[in-house]
Amino acid sequence: MRSSGSLLVDNIGELVTNSFGEGEGGPLGIRRDAALLVEDGEVAWVGPARDAPAADRRIDAEGGAVLPGFVDSHAHLVFAGDRAAEFAARMAGEPYTGGGIRTTVGATRAASDDELRATVRRLRGEAMRQGTTTIEIKSGYGLTVADEARSLRIAAEFTEDTTFLGAHVVPAEYADRPDDYVGMVCGPMLATAAPYARWIDVFCERGAFDVDHARAILACGQAVGLGVRVHANQLGPGPGVQLGVELGAASVDHCTHLTDADIDALASTGTTWVSGFEPTTVATLLPGAEFSTRSPYPDARRLLDAGATVALATDCNPGSSYTSSMPFCVALAVREMRMTPAEAVWAATAGGAAALRRTDVGRLARGARADLMILDAPSHLHLAYRPGVPLIRQVLHNGVPQCRP
Ligand SMILES: [Zn+2]
Repeated sequence: MRSSGSLLVDNIGELVTNSFGEGEGGPLGIRRDAALLVEDGEVAWVGPARDAPAADRRIDAEGGAVLPGFVDSHAHLVFAGDRAAEFAARMAGEPYTGGGIRTTVGATRAASDDELRATVRRLRGEAMRQGTTTIEIKSGYGLTVADEARSLRIAAEFTEDTTFLGAHVVPAEYADRPDDYVGMVCGPMLATAAPYARWIDVFCERGAFDVDHARAILACGQAVGLGVRVHANQLGPGPGVQLGVELGAASVDHCTHLTDADIDALASTGTTWVSGFEPTTVATLLPGAEFSTRSPYPDARRLLDAGATVALATDCNPGSSYTSSMPFCVALAVREMRMTPAEAVWAATAGGAAALRRTDVGRLARGARADLMILDAPSHLHLAYRPGVPLIRQVLHNGVPQCRP
């Protein structure tokens, strides 16, 4: 749905544009005393408030900061059941192994389409209220031809960025013959899933898929036109990051255990500022997973200092990171991963857009989608400075106010 008529947002405390070279704050491109005009779902004009054009309607930001909506580039929303008991056991000392994915697979297969759809709708709404205007949604809890296809079909009702993750884990019925499962993923499962997917992803990790299987699956996806993303180097060092770079992946996700060679490989793909967009392999960090599995956080500082492009995402899923909150991830990144608030906000907006290879979101400039949030706070710093506080007062998605008229 798009808004009709023009809408002016003014009395903005601080406008984060993510237009590098404009205003202050480096890549954040912060403008003061600015106003923003929305027309036909897009940003039609950004400039000094005193020069603001007339508009049909007006939103008074009341001195609050205005930022691009968050771009959550990694979420697993199509599932059934919850794993609260597993979380409690982990907090009592049990390690995380990734094996609980199969628990969710059983519940997801048993659920109706409407049950799955209701869960996605609930989590998508939750995310929107916390400022997320773009979200990627993966399959990966069906793991049969029919269940992966219906997961993606339902995901596609909510987002353009759908990801086929048939290679999430080898399901129990294939436990003794992983080669057969990989053949099925590359064959009938991919053929059925591909019409609903923009991306293909693999969980490349000990206990999931080894590098040869991962390469074969990603190559099959690429051959039918899907973009590549990889779950890599979450539970230990491994070949996933290098594989992602080798295949020109848009993003390698988790990046918790990286060697110097992994960092160099990511940095060699370049640093993305949205104003000068070039495809890179983005390192997408998912601190909600480390929080929820009580694991060491990835070293964001090392990646940033080396010149890699970093994104932040929630990894929202019922096992290892059941949060839909990008502000929570920003706060974790600043407190636990030594990112500056500016770096974290950029990573959660423009970084996510880069990880999805999108130039229409993650920034506020003429021609971008009018996806933005208005904070109950004067600057972006408050997202990390006031953790756990509902600071998002208003969200515009395609120019349409979501929270209140
Ligand atoms: Zn994930």
